[in-house]
Amino acid sequence: MEEFDVIIIGGGAAGLSAGLYTTRAMMKTLIIESMGWGGQIALTDEIENYPGFPEGIKGPQLAVLMEQQTLRFGADMRIDEVTAVENLDAPLKLVHTSEATYAGRTLIVCTGGAHRKLGIPGEDEFSGKGVSYCAVCDGNFFRGQDVVVVGGGDAALDEGGYLSGIVNKVTVIHRRDQLRASKILQHRSFANPKMDFLLSHVVEEVRGNGMMERVLVRDLKSNNTFEYPSTGAFIYIGFESNSGFLAGLLPTDETGHIKTNIRMETVVPGVYACGDIRVDSDRQLGNGVGDGISAALAAYRYVSEHA
Ligand code: NAP
Repeated sequence: MEEFDVIIIGGGAAGLSAGLYTTRAMMKTLIIESMGWGGQIALTDEIENYPGFPEGIKGPQLAVLMEQQTLRFGADMRIDEVTAVENLDAPLKLVHTSEATYAGRTLIVCTGGAHRKLGIPGEDEFSGKGVSYCAVCDGNFFRGQDVVVVGGGDAALDEGGYLSGIVNKVTVIHRRDQLRASKILQHRSFANPKMDFLLSHVVEEVRGNGMMERVLVRDLKSNNTFEYPSTGAFIYIGFESNSGFLAGLLPTDETGHIKTNIRMETVVPGVYACGDIRVDSDRQLGNGVGDGISAALAAYRYVSEHA
């Protein structure tokens, strides 16, 4: 079995930053990622709020830069699926993947989350046939068409803005009469002539014939329902944490986010959690980077003290 000073589970901003620091500290580092390097960054079109890029930077471009920087210092980076962890209290903690079992003196968990689903009729049936969770991936299929974006957070407005550059019209449907998104995104979106808003409305069903053609919408103020023509529905209603493989081995909140202290330490010595997966994360790129660095430094101290 291959042994590492640190096994980092998750190759998003937090994991890549942690790996950058652990490799530069000469720790033998394995990073395991199931999808693609960069995590949410790679799925975000334009990133304007990461310091050092005054003109903004494309998410996929930043993801590649972060991946290259971490690789440069010798991280062992593998695409694989972690299925379970065990022996967390032992000096060598075991990480089982689809392909192998690895042993780590420390573990850093930074698996982030996955897009939450609405759970309404038609959502699964029309997934990939109109329903999407990634504007950057699928936006081009809707060139010149009318689409809806569901949600009122930063992701909904950010991705709605991106879509507005491709499609004919974007209607943002949000369940409250106030948006959750940052003021600057709200301001920009309200000023965008290709973006409309249905506030205090919810989508109750996705309808179509083979391909999605419309959504059934309820006006929560009047309680009336009506069909709204739309060939695409981009769902941006938040994330669920990807902590299932931990099987209850670490304390979490009710949404599966792992409890840590400010040094990213979980209750198990030598096991850390950081980024979007931890309780109280602000879930910003910069926070993920900072969390990853804190976890790496804590892991380094732990390995030094337990040499
Ligand atoms: P979020 O901030 O949690 O917002 C989720 C939105 O979906 C909220 O408006 C929420 O409504 C709504 N919602 C949740 N469940 C719903 C349901 N079942 N039906 C209808 N609506 C529902 O999530 P996010 O927008 O995905 O953002 C996640 C994190 O990433 C945030 O910290 C965000 O700041 C960050 N992010 C930042 C940027 C950026 O800065 N450019 C871009 C993307 C993401 P309520 O408001 O009523 O709760």
